[in-house]
Amino acid sequence: MPRLRRDEGGNALLEGSDGTVAAAGLGGVLALAIASAPTGITVADPSLPDCPLVFCNPAFSKITGYPAEEVLGRNCRFLQGPGTEKSVVRQIRRAIAEQKPITVEFTNHRKDGRRFTNELRLAPVFDPEGRLVAYVGIQHDVTARKRAEREVEKARRAAERANKEKSDFLAFTSHEVRTPLHGVMGTLSLLLDTPLDAEQRAYAETARRCGATLLHTVNELLDLSKIEAGKLDIHPAPFRLADVVKDVLDLLAPAAAEKGIDLSASLDHLLPAELIGDATRIRQVLLNLADNAVKFTHRGSVEIRLAALPDGHVGFAVTDTGIGIPPKLRAKLFTRFTQAEAGAEQSGSGLGLAICKRLVALMGGQIAVDSTPGRGSTFFFDLPLPPVPESGAPPTRLAPRPELAPPPALAHGRILLAEDGKANQLVAAAILRKAGYTVELARDGAEAVAAAESGDYDLILMDLRMPLMDGYAATRAIRQIRGPRGRVPIIAMTASVMPGDAERCLEAGMDGHLAKPLDRLELLRAVEKVLDSRPRRPRAPAPPPEPGLLPPLLDRETLEELRAAVGPGRLPRLISVFAAETKERVRRMHGLTDPARIEEEAHTLKASAATFGAIALRDAAGRLEEACRLGDETAWRDILDSLPGLAERSIAAFPQPRGERRGEGAEGEGGED
Ligand code: ADP
Repeated sequence: MPRLRRDEGGNALLEGSDGTVAAAGLGGVLALAIASAPTGITVADPSLPDCPLVFCNPAFSKITGYPAEEVLGRNCRFLQGPGTEKSVVRQIRRAIAEQKPITVEFTNHRKDGRRFTNELRLAPVFDPEGRLVAYVGIQHDVTARKRAEREVEKARRAAERANKEKSDFLAFTSHEVRTPLHGVMGTLSLLLDTPLDAEQRAYAETARRCGATLLHTVNELLDLSKIEAGKLDIHPAPFRLADVVKDVLDLLAPAAAEKGIDLSASLDHLLPAELIGDATRIRQVLLNLADNAVKFTHRGSVEIRLAALPDGHVGFAVTDTGIGIPPKLRAKLFTRFTQAEAGAEQSGSGLGLAICKRLVALMGGQIAVDSTPGRGSTFFFDLPLPPVPESGAPPTRLAPRPELAPPPALAHGRILLAEDGKANQLVAAAILRKAGYTVELARDGAEAVAAAESGDYDLILMDLRMPLMDGYAATRAIRQIRGPRGRVPIIAMTASVMPGDAERCLEAGMDGHLAKPLDRLELLRAVEKVLDSRPRRPRAPAPPPEPGLLPPLLDRETLEELRAAVGPGRLPRLISVFAAETKERVRRMHGLTDPARIEEEAHTLKASAATFGAIALRDAAGRLEEACRLGDETAWRDILDSLPGLAERSIAAFPQPRGERRGEGAEGEGGED
C-alpha cells in the first residue's frame, strides 16, 4: 500500500511500496522553496492506474481547499464538476495522450463547492532516457482576474453601445429634426411671399425667426457633439479666400442693412488669392464671429480684416463698434453655454464661440478676443493655411452685394428636382418656379437618372436619401451618361450633416451641397450661381406654358439627337411605335379613375414623350403626374380630358415618311448619313 509522507519542506508525497516517489524526493532547499511557492504544484504518476496525484504542495491545498490526505492517490479530475468546460477537458485529454504540455483556463470546484477559474499548466516529465515518468501541474486561481476582465469587457461593450447610441441619435436628430424643419421653413417663406395683412405677416415672421433659431441651435448641438466625439474632421482643399469672406458678407448684409450698420471686409494685398484649408469650417467660424458682431452692435460698423502674419499664418479679425464684453464674461467666453446677462440680443445658445474655439484648434490655430465695454470688440483667430502657388492676389476690399436681384420673369433654366419627400419637393419646386425656373420632378434616384438621360437640364437638385436608388448612386449613374447630359451640374440637398457627407457628394461627382432645410435665398443663390457659370445653351430651354401661349409641340433638336443616337434609318419605325404606344396609353388612361394608376401612366408617357421631343405632351403628362400626386382632382381631370387631342396633334407634328413606310434603312426624310 502506498502511504502518505511529508518531505523536508512539509510537501505531501505518496510513497510507493518500493519507495519510488520518496526516493525521487525533493530534498533540502528545493523542498522548502516548493512548499513556500504561492503556486499550486502537483505531480501525477502515469505509471499507476488512472494517473493519480502523488505529490502536492501546500499552495495547492490552499487553492482547492482539499488537504493532501484527500488528494493524493486520486486523479485530479475530482476538481471538475458542473460548469467545467467540456471542450477544455477534451483538450487536456488530447495533450496527455500526445504527451504534450498544455495551458488552459477552466472552471474547477473547491472542496466547499465554490467554483474557481483554474489556470492549469500541465507538462509531461521525461527521464534522461526519454521515458514518461510524471506529469507536473502548475495551478493558479485566476477567478479574480477573470472577473475583472469580464467587468472590463462588459464596461467596454456598454461604452461602445452608448457611443453607438449617441451616434445613432446624432444621425436621427440631424435627419429627422432637420427634414420637417425644412418643410416648416420653406412653407413659411412661401407664406410670406403671399399677400398677408400686417398682423398675419408679423406672426409668420416670428414663426420664421424662431424656426431659424431652432435650426441654428440644432446645427450647433450637432457640431459640438461631433467635435466632442472626435468625429468632426477637417478637410483641407484649395479655396478662394475672397469667396469665403464674400459669402459671409452676403449672408449678413440683410441684418446689417436692417440695423443701419456698415459691413465691409479688407484683405491684405500680401495674401495669396487661393489657399489650402477647410473653407466650410473657416466660413463657419468667420460667420459666427461676424454674426455676433452684427447682433451686438447697434450703430457704427462691423469690419472683417484678413492679414498675412509673419509666421506664415493667415490672421482673421472681426471688429465691431458694439456693446463690448465685460471682463467677467470675457474670461469664460469660449466655454459652452456662456452668455451675457439676459438682454435684448439674447437669441443664441451660447455654443457658437465654444464651437469656434474648437474648430480653430482643430485647424491648428488660436482664437482670442479684445473688448472694451461700450466701445466694441475684436475677435481674432489665426490659421496655418498654405498658399496655392501663383494664384495671384485677392481683391483688397469687399462689400456685400445688394439684395438678390429677382430672376428674370421668364424661365431661364430647366431644373430637375429629385426628392422623395413630398412636402420638401413642393416647397423647393414652388420657390424655384416662383423665381421663374422650369422645374421637373423625380421621386427617386432611378427616375432622376431616367430623366437626366432623356432631357437637357441645366441643373439637377438631388436629395441624397431616396428610395430605390439614393442620390449618390444616381449621380454616379448620371456621370456615366455619354455627352453633355452626363455633365449636368448636380447639387446635393441633404438634411444629414454627418461627417463625410460633403466628401461623399464630391466623390460621387456632385458639384455642390445644400443643407436642408433649404433657405430660399441660399437655394436661389446656389441655383443662380450654377446657371450663371454655364455657357448659355444654344437653344432656349422649354419655356413654361403661359396662359394663352401654347408650347411648341415638337422639339426638333431632340428628335435630331435621337436620330443620331439610334442610327441610320431607324427613326421612322421608332416614331410609329411611339405613336401607337402613345395612342394606346392615352386611351387606357382615359378609362382610369385611380389617380395613382394615372400618375404611373403619366409618368411613363412623360418619359417617352421627352425622349421623342414631344415637349408639349411631355409637359402635359408631367403636369398630369403632378396633379395626380397632389390629389388635385380638378386639375388631373382637366389635363386628362385634353390629353387625346394633344397626343393626336403631337403625333401629327412628327415628320411624315414620304409615301408608304419602307422599313429599316428607308427613312422617309432621307438626307442623313
Ligand atoms: P450665442 O449663440 O449666444 O451668440 P456665442 O458663444 O456666439 O453664443 O456668444 C456667447 C456670448 O458672448 C453672447 O451671448 C454675448 O453675450 C457675447 N458676445 C459674443 N460676441 C460678442 C460681440 N461681438 N459683442 C458683444 N458680446 C458678444
